[in-house]
Amino acid sequence: MQTKRANKYGFCFGVKRAIKLAEQNKNATTIGPLIHNQKEIDRLKVDFGVNVETNIGAIEGDSSVIIRTHGIPKNDLKELKNRNVNIIDATCPFVTKPQKICEEMSKEGYEIIIFGDENHPEVKGVVSYCTSPCQVVLEKEQIKNIHTHSKITLISQTTKNVSKFLEIANYLIENCYEVRIFNTICNATFENQESVKILAQEADIIIVVGGKQSSNTKQLLNIALQYCKDSYCIEDEKELQKEWFSGKKLCGITAGASTPNWIIDNVENIIKEF
Ligand code: SF4
Repeated sequence: MQTKRANKYGFCFGVKRAIKLAEQNKNATTIGPLIHNQKEIDRLKVDFGVNVETNIGAIEGDSSVIIRTHGIPKNDLKELKNRNVNIIDATCPFVTKPQKICEEMSKEGYEIIIFGDENHPEVKGVVSYCTSPCQVVLEKEQIKNIHTHSKITLISQTTKNVSKFLEIANYLIENCYEVRIFNTICNATFENQESVKILAQEADIIIVVGGKQSSNTKQLLNIALQYCKDSYCIEDEKELQKEWFSGKKLCGITAGASTPNWIIDNVENIIKEF
């Protein structure tokens, strides 16, 4: 059996930047895990003393705090600034963009619709910048109280699926007076999704390597499953099961934006042994 990696996979620009900042700021604290990959978080803790703290209230005044790629709610940021914490902002610019759009379009009187998971930290952060009514939806059927005279701004969580976003955009265009659509799905996500779509059409089995909590990893798996029913998501090589590969000729490999190369290499090496 052969293995083949997707054209684009793994670490994105935002995650690379966040890890570099963590490595440059030894003993800093991150608000929540820096990225969705526990093994990389563990490495940063062991090699660079980077701690994780989820409770903003527990952060001491003179500490250095790294804001993770997903960003944090506006009030939390304000609280940290008020306490004179040394802030190292690793919020990905692709996340800052929807935050700014929400702030500006709210001021202009647009109702905001966000295509995303309401419990995802990135979405919670983005919502905090809306000062006009805001809805977070995953399906067009969830959109409530839209009137034909409504002025709507639509944005997306950065790691969401493009075709689903277009479905929601089309629905709004058909039903509202004015719709402003901002494509806030990040390039890295888009490229990784397009690459796995192509790979899944030629492979007999697809392995997606990534954190179980990672939104972009879940999207990669969903896309892979559309074209290759034998697609599996694993966090590391220990989760591989030999029987998955029985009778298969080509194994495609991709990885979420928070998956370091050393984990992907370990996975590929074990698959080759099979
Ligand atoms: S997946 Fe996109 S939005 Fe998220 S950190 Fe990477 S580049 Fe930024």
